[in-house]
Amino acid sequence: MNSKLDCRQLKKDALLKLKEKIEKEALQPVLAIIQVGSVDASNIYIRNKRKAADEIGITTTLCSFEEDVDQETLLRKIEELNENPNINGIFIQLPIPSHLDEVELINHIDPKKDVDGLTTMNLGNLVSGEPLLTPCTPNAVMDILEALDCDITGKNVTIIGRSRLVGKPLFHLLLQKDATITMCHSKTENLKEHTLNADILITAAGTKKNLITADMVKEDAIIIDVSIIRDEQNQLHGDVDYDTVKEKVNYVTPVPGGVGQLTVLELMKNTVKANEIQKTYTLKKK
Ligand code: NAP
Repeated sequence: MNSKLDCRQLKKDALLKLKEKIEKEALQPVLAIIQVGSVDASNIYIRNKRKAADEIGITTTLCSFEEDVDQETLLRKIEELNENPNINGIFIQLPIPSHLDEVELINHIDPKKDVDGLTTMNLGNLVSGEPLLTPCTPNAVMDILEALDCDITGKNVTIIGRSRLVGKPLFHLLLQKDATITMCHSKTENLKEHTLNADILITAAGTKKNLITADMVKEDAIIIDVSIIRDEQNQLHGDVDYDTVKEKVNYVTPVPGGVGQLTVLELMKNTVKANEIQKTYTLKKK
């Protein structure tokens, strides 16, 4: 068990490994990013993604649209990107304005190019035990558990949060690793009973800081805190009362500096994977 794991270092090392793979296999992955409007936060997120991609040899192309773009225009753009053999991954920077149907747009992406892993088709692939591309945040959690050298088989894992983005896909990724899983949500009675039973606790409620206190966790547990909560002072927190909990458990991810570190990496990994899937698919069709 690597209880000193630093997620920033993990990200750096993994990006370097990915860069080496791209060079060695002469891959030329291309990621298309769709941006609607120009919110500051989205600009920063997109800049970070493009910078990371550029550093490791992934080409990005930005498709920008005005805030008032209509659904049809975006659907047509997605179709065009789906059909372009030079584009390997398509990513929609969320959130998008509320007049647009987000689920319809996501589901319009070819599952083989769905690098966010959020199409209904890809979530279904995961549930059926034949994953193609899986969502980035759950992938980040799995990478952290792997880097911790943590044996998941048969362990009691409690997940807090059942969203399409985090909890549900994570449930299936962990099930494939033979974990015994308890899924909690806002209607769960006696949350503490379930958290105390967890060898591994993954929390993604995002509703209030210090939701998980030291008395709620098992000694020597592993805790992965996915949540990002911004307080009145603009400080970031997770669900976990980090300072007290870290004294009791084997490992707990900090916020910031934990899971959030890995999401860009996971997008890059999925882009390379999409590139490989498309190559195999083209070969099969020949
Ligand atoms: P979400 O869609 O709002 O889902 C939150 C889930 O938590 C829901 O299933 C909800 O239950 C459950 N929940 C809320 N309060 C609870 C409580 N007191 N006890 C037990 N369960 C509770 O949010 P999300 O998109 O999954 O994101 C969750 C958090 O992760 C947010 O803080 C978000 O910012 C963060 N996040 C971080 C990253 C990253 O890169 N680190 C990526 C994605 C998300 P119900 O289903 O009953 O409502």
